[in-house]
Amino acid sequence: MTDHTHADTLRTPIVAVLGHVDHGKTSLLDTIRGSAVSEGEAGAITQHIGATDIPLDTISGMAGELIDPTDFDLPGLLFIDTPGHHSFSTLRARGGALADIAVLVVDVNDGFQPQTEEAIDILRRTGTPFVVAANKADTTPGWNPQDGEPIQKSMEAQSERAKSMLDENLYEIIGQLSDAGFSADLYWRVQDFQKNIGVVPLSALTGEGVPDLLTVLMGLSQRFMKEEMAIDVTGPGEGTVLEVKDERGFGATVDTVVYDGVIRNGDTVVVGGQDEPIVTEVRALLRPRPLAEIRTEKEFEKVGEIGAAAGVKIAAPDLDRAMAGAPVRVVRDRTVEEVVEEVKAELAEIEVETADNGVVVKADTLGSLEAMANALREAEVPILRAEVGDIAPRDIAVAETANQDEHKAILGFNVDLLKNAESDLENADVKLFKNEVIYQLVEDYERYVEEKQRAQQ
Ligand code: GDP
Repeated sequence: MTDHTHADTLRTPIVAVLGHVDHGKTSLLDTIRGSAVSEGEAGAITQHIGATDIPLDTISGMAGELIDPTDFDLPGLLFIDTPGHHSFSTLRARGGALADIAVLVVDVNDGFQPQTEEAIDILRRTGTPFVVAANKADTTPGWNPQDGEPIQKSMEAQSERAKSMLDENLYEIIGQLSDAGFSADLYWRVQDFQKNIGVVPLSALTGEGVPDLLTVLMGLSQRFMKEEMAIDVTGPGEGTVLEVKDERGFGATVDTVVYDGVIRNGDTVVVGGQDEPIVTEVRALLRPRPLAEIRTEKEFEKVGEIGAAAGVKIAAPDLDRAMAGAPVRVVRDRTVEEVVEEVKAELAEIEVETADNGVVVKADTLGSLEAMANALREAEVPILRAEVGDIAPRDIAVAETANQDEHKAILGFNVDLLKNAESDLENADVKLFKNEVIYQLVEDYERYVEEKQRAQQ
């Protein structure tokens, strides 16, 4: 473990966006990025690899009268670009969640839905502070926002009908949060965002309320980072792999969020791999050019070093066996062996208990594999093998070795069936389940087993 006690600088907080499908996570991220760009800080907004960095100046420009930048000593906010809870619960940093804080997006008309509940469970379990974006406020009949006004004023200016409809929906959400054990209120009534969940009515479509959300996020992060996260921003870099990708001219690269310390060109790094930790040397640190430019040009910018928190693409030899969700550690002030042991220890925490018989589990990241394993343990479904990655011919062969009919199954979470495995699957007595929602995946499998058992009776 790195010693962070002598740290005094606050790094950029990492923000994840969670919520039920279609409730507007992607739209919200797009709007935040879009309005940050149009805020005019030419080139200031860099869409790093896998995460978008919005500096404090830009946020304060967007938030207008809502925010006084001198109140903050945070550099800005770093949004993880992939929304959804697999980008949250499954991306870890030293055993905890990679994201420091979260936005839970809830469609005001739709209220809590299964993935909202799932997200809430994860936020509760990890103790992650969050705010609720009560999205699609613009769909309220009679909604008539005041251009550029804070959302509270907009709310007050609504017709009585719109106001009461919106109020009703918002209080429904507040009630649902309370059922889930959280005390929540409309954000302008909240004094302490760590004690009470702030609910921000907004529209990802029109952008109304988005400045309010950013303001609340800044307030929440400021407190949280000060209290919980003294970070040694100058120490050896520590990060988490978001994705392993082949990049022309560079071979296998890893898109990484660096959550602590600094990583430099030429650094020796240890990266969690499929079998053993990979020890390699950084050939290049890459990130796309600033947003305004990457629309026309795909080229990467080479950077000499990058400090937390930021997204970066690392090019280095031997990264093809790297695992999404695995740790990345810079070797500095310590021996390679020490760092390798640390990476191993971190990976061991996520090791999944397997049995001689059971299902084959494939998932997109280590963390999601762990979440799958937990869900299956609760459902008392044994696991024969669990791995990160797409479904390959080998997985089908392994699944076939299961010695009970109902167990000849592969459960794929957020992964694809590889082209070269398609015919194997057709010819094998193996059932494939794929889903992007863990509990649905488990339910589908259980239903299948039940039906099979019924058919056999
Ligand atoms: P995700 O699945 O949570 O990422 O949801 P999306 O961002 O893809 O949004 C789902 C749908 O809702 C899309 O058709 C969006 O255009 C729409 N949508 C998202 N936010 C809003 C909003 O604030 N107002 C309205 N009217 N539609 C929205």
